Amino acid sequence: MSTDFAALSFDEKLDRLALVAVRVGLNLQPRQELVITAPLDLVPFVRRVVEQAYRAGAHVVTVLYVDDEATLTRYQHAPDEAFDQTAQWLADGIAAAYRSGAARMGITGANPALLKDQDPGKISRTNVATSKASKPAMELITRHTINWTIVAGATPAWAKLVFPDMPKTEALAALWEAIFHASRITGADPVQDWKDHGQSIARRVEQLNAKRFSALHFRGPGTDLVVGLADDHLWAGGGGVSGNGVFNNANIPTEECFTTPHKDRVNGTVAASKPLSHQGTLIENIAVRFENGKIVEAHASAGEDSLKKLIAVDEGASRLGEVALVPHSSPIAQSGLLFWNTLFDENAASHIALGQAYATCLVNGEHMDDAALAAKGANSSLIHVDWMIGSGAMDVAGVHADGTEEPLMRAGEWV
Ligand code: ZN
Ligand code: ZN
Repeated sequence: MSTDFAALSFDEKLDRLALVAVRVGLNLQPRQELVITAPLDLVPFVRRVVEQAYRAGAHVVTVLYVDDEATLTRYQHAPDEAFDQTAQWLADGIAAAYRSGAARMGITGANPALLKDQDPGKISRTNVATSKASKPAMELITRHTINWTIVAGATPAWAKLVFPDMPKTEALAALWEAIFHASRITGADPVQDWKDHGQSIARRVEQLNAKRFSALHFRGPGTDLVVGLADDHLWAGGGGVSGNGVFNNANIPTEECFTTPHKDRVNGTVAASKPLSHQGTLIENIAVRFENGKIVEAHASAGEDSLKKLIAVDEGASRLGEVALVPHSSPIAQSGLLFWNTLFDENAASHIALGQAYATCLVNGEHMDDAALAAKGANSSLIHVDWMIGSGAMDVAGVHADGTEEPLMRAGEWV
């Protein structure tokens, strides 16, 4: 590939994103099965992904489309008692596919504000029911047993939220371009570019792992937070080898170095640096206080009810399962856009995640049972929700076991 990106037709650009999703995101193997979930608005893009998957040697590709309108209709017309129920058979089927060797691609792009006028109680019950049903499948994901990836495609409703002042068609085109750039597919050879990018993150990960910090100390506007790290924590980022031996990139784009915090050793206050879109609701200006790992005070200027319901889902929902460092110079941060989509916003700023920890971020973690993981400090929960705390005004220090601090980031940049 050596074409000038700007000279490509829109269809050729879509093809490139599809190719990177299949070859770099999944590294789909010949004869592998693939399960794709995607919004109905993305049919043209999904068809290109399917073509790339079969060209890569896939045997069976199954696409499960999700229709935002159908989701909304349920909230408007289903009886109240319906919201604790979910399609268990579907969740079972997806888990069975993963266990039999299928790869998984999630294509995001649903309307981030789809459920903004719906009852937070119903939304929370739906999320709990879905999370419970898909726990076996999610475990294969968080343990990185299979090769999986998430990519995004632009949809009209999402584009309107990102570019509220543009006419519809312009907004849609602008969001696609923003996705292409953030996903690093605009160079002459995007597959090679991704290899180079992955190696530069891998070097950072190696440096962080060599330090054996016991905690990270975040200081910024509204934030003075010490995040203790789990015993035997491992930093990760920029792709890795899944349990089936396939090297893949779980997120397109990805800019973060992340690890597992200690679920009982987080103290202080933290203010979000970006609003959060969670399952169709928008939560703004989050500010919380942690004591011994648990959130003891939580506020938001909008969506506070949703935030409180979220952290009450289970014991682990009010504790951290991930901490991640992202420099403010990442191309996504530099775009200055607020995407209202975690895949992008979490790669524009340092962040923390409430809920489930990644077992792969502990030495030998993928072979440990739940009790062994908990003993190391790894959190467990039905939820895993990232929210952004980093900015150009954030300082981060690594804390050694003896309490001494070493600057890691100053004003949002690596020291
Ligand atoms: Zn993350
Ligand atoms: Zn996360």
